[in-house]
Amino acid sequence: MASSFTRMMSGRNTAVVLASIGASTLASGYLMTDSGVTAQERMKMYPPSADFPDLRKHNNCMAAALTPGIYGRLRDKMTPNNWTLDQCIQTGVDNPGHPFIKTVGMVAGDEESYEVFAELFDPVIKDRHNGYDPRTMKHPTDLDASKITNGTFDDRYVLSSRVRTGRSIRGLSLPPACSRSERREVERVTVMALAGLKGDLAGRYYSLSSMTEQEQQRLIDDHFLFDKPVSPLLTCAGMARDWPDARGIWHNNEKTFLIWVNEEDHTRVISMEKGGNMKRVFERFCKGLKEVERLIQERGWEFMWNERLGYILTCPSNLGTGLRAGVHVRLPNLSKDSRFSKILDNLRLQKRGTGGVDTAATGDTFDISNLDRLGKSEVELVQLVVDGVNYLIECEKRLERGQDIKVPAPLVQFRR
Ligand code: ADP
Ligand code: MG
Repeated sequence: MASSFTRMMSGRNTAVVLASIGASTLASGYLMTDSGVTAQERMKMYPPSADFPDLRKHNNCMAAALTPGIYGRLRDKMTPNNWTLDQCIQTGVDNPGHPFIKTVGMVAGDEESYEVFAELFDPVIKDRHNGYDPRTMKHPTDLDASKITNGTFDDRYVLSSRVRTGRSIRGLSLPPACSRSERREVERVTVMALAGLKGDLAGRYYSLSSMTEQEQQRLIDDHFLFDKPVSPLLTCAGMARDWPDARGIWHNNEKTFLIWVNEEDHTRVISMEKGGNMKRVFERFCKGLKEVERLIQERGWEFMWNERLGYILTCPSNLGTGLRAGVHVRLPNLSKDSRFSKILDNLRLQKRGTGGVDTAATGDTFDISNLDRLGKSEVELVQLVVDGVNYLIECEKRLERGQDIKVPAPLVQFRR
């Protein structure tokens, strides 16, 4: 009896139970002020129009979709974990734009955010994911790497290949909203599960707080570890609270399979290696990810997922597959050509600097990856990157020889 109780208490059900106890305690107790008015009621003394954010200088997806009507209907709603619309959009209010990419401008605090605030999340998702309709469409999953064709790039151009996704643990709040205890629980559950990885996937966990400054910087400079919490997108969303508590990286001995813990998502699962063998990177990604899921499930937990949104992650840009497959590729001629941006857009590819999303693309080398994550399967997206990057390299070679290049027709996005 004792052992089954312990197991139940350490499983995801506990988190759900605790979360709901927390919600009712908060609603009835802690937020009560001296006058007997709750913070929630005090807020309602002002109409939503008085709280509507000034978005006139903004160019993110949230700012484009949020109307006074939507805000009025959603402002006073809460998820079961007491998460509000204002908390979802704060990062987008505080960051009118991003210098290098078009951002989404809002995050989820928990799995329920996507339902409770669907009236705003849905149009944002549709805008960010090229017309995907989260009310009527279903998201496919396919982790069969053997389907990839032409998956090896010319190593003279491609320096490294990487595939990543995120996974969230159901019943625990997401990084913008989680308490310290929830964050530590994510770390505990993940690290315990990863200890079960065997063979070439076997490795160990390195928590940020146990690393020296030099060790951490070395991992960042070598592109293995997430950056320090310098991104305003991260800090304004509340994801850097308590840093570095319960953050860390797990990796195998070769540093080709890595799991980030408690950065922007509960977990980020990454496969990477030097050179252009994207097919091998994706094979390791699929194998490792399936193992991680099995090990998590064995311990009574599961990932947040539903058939319309796929895997649920903090940022709506990562819904669906959560997959970003990319290469660091050298394109000295093509990148100076005025058609470069249009070619990338038509191939549904995104360009970043080689230091990550917050770095400018400098010099000749770029991080090129799929723009979309939702509505197409993992296999489809990796194939799209393979075909797209091969096309870019072909263009680069033609320009080297003084030949002309063509802007390809825009890709058809969804089979309906
Ligand atoms: P993510 O979308 O996975 O969060 P970021 O843009 O934040 O990616 O970058 C995280 C880190 O991963 C950075 O250090 C970046 O240089 C590294 N990285 C991304 N793509 C590649 C790649 N193809 N090869 C090597 N490192 C990469
Ligand atoms: Mg990132």
